[in-house]
Amino acid sequence: MARSFVAEARRRVGPKKARIRPIVERLIAEHPDAGIALKFRSDIELLVSVMLSAQTTDVNVNRVTATLFEKYKRPEDYLAVPVEELERDVYATGFFRQKTKSIRGTMQRLLERDLQRLVPREHWGVFPHLLIWHGRRVCIARAPRCEECVLTDLCPSSRV
Ligand code: SF4
Repeated sequence: MARSFVAEARRRVGPKKARIRPIVERLIAEHPDAGIALKFRSDIELLVSVMLSAQTTDVNVNRVTATLFEKYKRPEDYLAVPVEELERDVYATGFFRQKTKSIRGTMQRLLERDLQRLVPREHWGVFPHLLIWHGRRVCIARAPRCEECVLTDLCPSSRV
């Protein structure tokens, strides 16, 4: 009964594609001051901030991410540390175990999606692991050891 009511209501308002523009325009007119209070400098930071913002305030998230984002800059950085370390780093936002799990899962998927376009198919399985281990051992987010890195001549971020 409820389902047919919803279907009927959807038919009445018309297709989504035709509705989205006026919906957005009206909402902008209705809430001209609407803005996101989360602080971020990139898509990854926005993604992580939103994931951390569940069940807490934006102010609290911003407090945590101010240091978090200095340490974790790329998807592989979130995967390179032990789970417990990331849990500690997001602890103050609450539900830290679930949030850590979600962030790591998302970063893993991002890494797999992004890289699939670049990496030859036969290396898809191993490449994310190579990046993670390289991040753990050599390309450490806070202090990459470029002088010991085998990629230094291929890497645009090399400090050597
Ligand atoms: S050369 Fe590039 S990949 Fe290697 S440690 Fe430095 S920044 Fe990381």
